[in-house]
Amino acid sequence: MNSDDLFLSINNIKGVGPVISKKLSDRGIENKIDLFLNLPTGAIDRRFCPKLDHLEVGKISTIFVRPVKYYFPRFRNLPNKVLCKDECGSIDVIFFNSRENYIKQILPLNEEVVISGKVGFYKNKFQITNPDYIQPADKEKDIKKIMAQYSSIAGISPKTIQKIYKEEIQKLRNVKEWHRKELLNEMKWPTWYEAIYALHNPINVSDVEKQSSFYRRLAFDEIFSNLLIFCEIKKRVKQLEKKPKNIPNNITTYIKKIIPFTLTNSQNDACAEILEDIRSSKKMMRVLQGDVGSGKTIIALISAFAVIKSGYQVAFLCPTELLAKQHFQLFKKILSSTNYSIELLSGKIKTSEQNKIRTLLFEKKINIIIGTHSLFQQKTLFGNLGLIIIDEQHKFGVLQRINLSLKGTINTDVLLMTATPIPRTLILTNYGDMDISTLKEKPFTNTKIQTLSKSIEQIDEVIMFVKKRLETNDQIYWVTPLIEESEKLNLSAAVKRFDYLKKNLKVEVGLVHGSMKSDEKDKIMSNFISGKIKVIVSTTVIEVGIDNQNANTMIIENCERFGLSQLHQLRGRVGRGRENAYCLLLYSKNIGENGKKRIHIMKSSLDGFYISEEDLKLRGFGDIIGYKQSGEKDFLIADPIFHSDLFEIAKKEIERIQSLQINIEENYSFLLKIFKKDKVLNIIDTG
Ligand code: ADP
Ligand code: MG
Repeated sequence: MNSDDLFLSINNIKGVGPVISKKLSDRGIENKIDLFLNLPTGAIDRRFCPKLDHLEVGKISTIFVRPVKYYFPRFRNLPNKVLCKDECGSIDVIFFNSRENYIKQILPLNEEVVISGKVGFYKNKFQITNPDYIQPADKEKDIKKIMAQYSSIAGISPKTIQKIYKEEIQKLRNVKEWHRKELLNEMKWPTWYEAIYALHNPINVSDVEKQSSFYRRLAFDEIFSNLLIFCEIKKRVKQLEKKPKNIPNNITTYIKKIIPFTLTNSQNDACAEILEDIRSSKKMMRVLQGDVGSGKTIIALISAFAVIKSGYQVAFLCPTELLAKQHFQLFKKILSSTNYSIELLSGKIKTSEQNKIRTLLFEKKINIIIGTHSLFQQKTLFGNLGLIIIDEQHKFGVLQRINLSLKGTINTDVLLMTATPIPRTLILTNYGDMDISTLKEKPFTNTKIQTLSKSIEQIDEVIMFVKKRLETNDQIYWVTPLIEESEKLNLSAAVKRFDYLKKNLKVEVGLVHGSMKSDEKDKIMSNFISGKIKVIVSTTVIEVGIDNQNANTMIIENCERFGLSQLHQLRGRVGRGRENAYCLLLYSKNIGENGKKRIHIMKSSLDGFYISEEDLKLRGFGDIIGYKQSGEKDFLIADPIFHSDLFEIAKKEIERIQSLQINIEENYSFLLKIFKKDKVLNIIDTG
């Protein structure tokens, strides 16, 4: 196969007509390579070929028989039946929902056929119901073997699948291997072609399992390509020379004097790293990773202050209007004694006003601009943008982020802030293009968040608890779960709870939900922050990053519906003030084992990193909050838990490649294309 063929649409495969191709593309399988990378989920051994007097109930069996009699009942709901025999015994082959003609065609009387399926036993007789395979006996080689199973292409005839994965795939034989021989030898790995062929045409059931050398080889390629692209981006960015920014040495002292607390050691370290980057002649690409409540905002402020002092502008990008406003107010307050101009730019501001702000930005008359996505519309031009800060990055996908960071000029430093603690294995594949600062400690070590759990059936006790909290002037978050399948169900659960709380508590209760306009939502959230609303009921995950120090109780209803990281993020909304804080997990009757485990883990730890690791173990990756939200699935094949060792190996191999200055576009272009990473490089080229 010409390697370009691989990227042709699946329509080009013989036997794949419009119906099949539609089914496949519904599952994200568009071209041939997608089909080949669609690995089996298991394998079935069809080599057990008993005579009819040696059948075993429940076992997948392949039998050689002759049909001797048809039973086609007149009643519609009765199945068709064919009596088959070999020299040792007989068996019924049962068909539900099939036409008589079809049965006569595949099971002609007295001609030997091979049938494969699970053997059952009914009314004292062996039977096979809806067999998986029926073929003329001379086709036995196609059936009497170990067969790969595919979950994502159910409904397509096994014959077509066979054809694709056996015949089509052989055309890949001439694809040139990209890894060096020594690496393959050392790891005892097959070539790419051998791996992909074996996975689809297994000789042992274990061949298709995640720990087989075939599978590991392909998982490695995926991890490798992912890391490689990030490392390449990082390398290219590091080659860019920027104008170092001139920042006075005492820059943090000024801010430290104004804020009402002392920075934690973690915060001080992170500041130092960031300031060093900003002062250097290399463009900063840094991610500040810190759990909810670890105090990232103040670091953003110090960085911004440093950059405006050096004469450049700063843009601070927030995921929501409300957060932008909150940050804006904080920045204004802290920098009020300076002459710097700080503005807010959001989609909600009148167009004429927006245009005015844009003009001022271009004329360098604004020093710090804070806003939402509208900040980075084409028409926003900066006079001399020196720093982009992006808050709560997990709302953006990886590509989106790279695009954003390329918005400025070479002189624009980039600081991402994320509150999604990422398991160690995934840090590189998510931020491999960036340097990383981590806030390990949190400011409020003396604030204890107590995590409790209660069955929803004890709602009376919960209400009593809430009343007590309200008496101490606390404010309450009450979260009802987001039911993705039905916005309606969702809403009605929240509205019901809202009505119930209004009736049972004698305080102002607010409701925010997903289908509300953002204006409305903002207004209610603002009233909550100002203390007018005491209890807020919310369907959606409460706005990321909202900081209400006076709210110290979080109640999460149907907590079994949330993932660990999500629960942790929610809990992080409270415990920000000096008060003690509570997180109350309400579970329903039908909570399962995993749900119980999650409650246990939540009670045992406040550490987001620990929790994200546990989350990964319980849910499997890909489901972690943040990954799902970004809309990009990082891995198709690799499993960061099973294959965690491969990340290290990939890292070493890439270091080797970089130190030998191997041209990755020449050597790995095919690999990058397979995993659709080539486009990322293109962005950097034109950037
Ligand atoms: P996040 O990392 O989630 O963005 P924030 O920056 O919103 O956290 O900080 C959470 C709260 O902690 C804020 O109210 C902030 O004023 C406060 N805070 C930040 N740093 C410290 C500190 N070193 N000591 C005490 N309080 C702090
Ligand atoms: Mg924040």
